[in-house]
Order: sequence, then structure tokens, then C-alpha cells
Amino acid sequence: MNSKYKVPFGLKNGILYEPSQVERGKACNCICSSCNNPLTAKKGEKNIHHFAHATNNSCETGRETAIHLAAKQIIFQNKAVYLPSIKIEDELIDYGMVTFDDIILEKAILGETTEFLIIPDITAKLHRKIDTKNLYVEIAVTHFSEEKKINEFRKKKLSSIEIDLSGLLKEDYVDFKMIENMIKSGNHATWIYNKRLELENEKIKKRDEKVKREREYILNKKLNNMKALINLYNEEKERKKYSIKSNNQLLDYARQAIGINSLDNLPAFILQPCDIDALYTLDGRLVRLYIYEYFILRRKNIPQLKDRAFGAKSVIQYLKSKKQLYSNKFINDWNKLIFEDDILFMDEDTPNFNPKKIISDYLFHLKDAGVLIYSGNYFFKLPGIFEADGSLSVCKFCKKQLPLSAEYCDKCGAIQ
Ligand SMILES: [Zn+2]
Repeated sequence: MNSKYKVPFGLKNGILYEPSQVERGKACNCICSSCNNPLTAKKGEKNIHHFAHATNNSCETGRETAIHLAAKQIIFQNKAVYLPSIKIEDELIDYGMVTFDDIILEKAILGETTEFLIIPDITAKLHRKIDTKNLYVEIAVTHFSEEKKINEFRKKKLSSIEIDLSGLLKEDYVDFKMIENMIKSGNHATWIYNKRLELENEKIKKRDEKVKREREYILNKKLNNMKALINLYNEEKERKKYSIKSNNQLLDYARQAIGINSLDNLPAFILQPCDIDALYTLDGRLVRLYIYEYFILRRKNIPQLKDRAFGAKSVIQYLKSKKQLYSNKFINDWNKLIFEDDILFMDEDTPNFNPKKIISDYLFHLKDAGVLIYSGNYFFKLPGIFEADGSLSVCKFCKKQLPLSAEYCDKCGAIQ
């Protein structure tokens, strides 16, 4: 006989029995849980013990209905269900075997109209001090929960699982122990809806959206600051084009620092206008003189500084301390904003304006002019080309800085 017709459990007075628990043959007094017709307990030597319909063999659902009912009976008796774990972000939450206070079979959940009536196979109740938690369990043997039912569970936010016992249909022999083991193993249960998971995910979503909004706000603010800075820089650049004039402060400083009496005698790398001028409101020559005096001449005169490396960041820090480089207006907004680290950082994506790069470009310009050497991402004073009084020689043609004793320019080749 095909196992499809082997009924594993017989129903007597509302309770299912295995063949081993009842008398042989018709004396078992069992009926089919599907068609209600009498069963006989087949307990022969040859075949696996099972029930068969005593008279009517056209019942095709006796087997699956018995398995379905047996699962409900087992859960009803044990009051325990294995709940699959859930994952909230990276945290795995294991429920394992959960014991409930009450198990109710096929109790309808009323919807707004009868159309939305759900009858879960099992309602498992967990009574707590403040409320009662319900878990709904669906047993699937041949029929899995329909979409409409699944949607209702989700819509009503009812935590529910489905236990898949369809694998048992292939088995030649099925008993209570096999079903119980499947329920306990946890490999067959899946969440239809988990309220905690949804609440946690909603929290995570809200948190992520908040973080995103805050990040956008900060980014926007930075971008606006940046736009304002670019405008200021361009205005200042334009202003500088027309307002370079000698001033006494510069001349005094030049006299003091490098002993030069006329601004016209300043070396080319100090005289020539460049992009750093607009970073500071005062005469660009003073800015360049500061750099020259502090990072080059000082290193020449103080032996322990001789080989000390520096970069654009050190130059920015140093010039920041020179308050006279900024007009009153600029001390308040420009000087504060322009060299803030986060603005410098942001500049990576804003090639239009990057104070650090403007300073760095000037240092490379000094390298090309033969004033600095560049090695390992840092700048060093070029050893030995300046005379003790700080005076320099400049190529008559290309203005490259040269040793005083040079007979020809090593850049353009012109004879000096
Ligand atoms: Zn039947």
C-alpha cells in the first residue's frame, strides 16, 4: 500500500493515538481525523504499524490531517515551541525553546470584518505582570499559510511562526516522537512576523535617518562656509591686484630680518605676487618674507634647526600667529575659518579652494627657485647656497635663485 494511505494516528474521544497505544484491528475504536470514518490498526509482522480506513479507501487527506493534528496535540501537551533566532543589526537573538502558560487551538482572531478573520492553528499565551504576550503558530504539512493570512498577521502586528512538517509526508513511518523532534530542532520554524524585530528595525531606521539628517546639515553648513570663503578669497585676490604698495612695516621687517634697505632688492621669490597673497590681507611680500625668515634663514643661523623638515601645515600654523597679516575684519571671520582643520579636510573634494594646497604650491615654487629641497613629503632648507648675510643671487634671465658664486644658471643656462 502506498504510504499516502497509511494513517499514522487514529482519533479516539478527541485524542490521537499511535497504533502501539491501541488494540489491533477494529478494536482500536479509532476514527480518521479527516473523514471521521472508522480505522483499523494494522499491527502485522510484515508492514510498519499504521492505521487504514476500515471500509472507505477514497479518503486522501487522512494522513496529512493526522500529522497536522498530532503537531497541535504535541504543542498543546508540552506547552513549548521552538522560536527561530532573529538578527537585529549584527546581534543574533536566540529564543530557543520557549515554554508558554496557555495553549489554545484554533481560536479565531477577529478582524474589522469577517473577511479578515484569521484562525491560527495555535495561540500560545505568555502571561506577564503587565500584559499577555501572544504567539501564533501555523503548522504546515501540505498547506502553507496563504498570502492573505500572512498579510493579516503582519498588518495586525501579531508575532507568528510557521512550522514546516512537509518533510514527514515522504516518510514511510511517522510517530509522535518524530514530530516532537522536528518541533524542538528549530530547523523547521520560520517567523511569519516578529513584532520585536519590526520595532527594533524601525528604531534603527529612525536613528539612521537622524544621523543622515545631521550629517547633511553639517555638510551643508560646511559647504556654505566654503562658498563664503571662496568668495572672500576671490574678492581679496581681485583687491590685491590693484593695491600692492610698499609699506613701512614691510620695509622695517626686511631691514631687520635680512638686512635689505630697499624693497626692490628683495629676492624674486619674495617680490613676485602669487596665490598665497589673497590668503592674507596685508602685503603678500610680507607673508613671503615671514616664511623666508622663519623657515629658511632661521634654520641657517641656528644649527639645531638646520635639518628640520616642515610642510604647509607648519607654515599655516606659524602665519596664523602673525596677527598683523589680517585686517580687523579678517581676524574675525577669515583667519578663524580659513585654516580650521575640518575646512582643510573638506577641501579634498573642493579643488577650487584649498589654503593648504595654495601654501604647499608656494613651497614647491621655492623648491623650483632653488631655495628649498623636497624629500619624503617634507621641505628642507637647501644647504649652502646662501651667504652669511642672507644675500642671494638671482638669474638675470629666469630669476632662479643661484649661489652667489654661480657663473651660469643651472635652469636656463644663461651666463651670469
Ligand atoms: Zn479518512
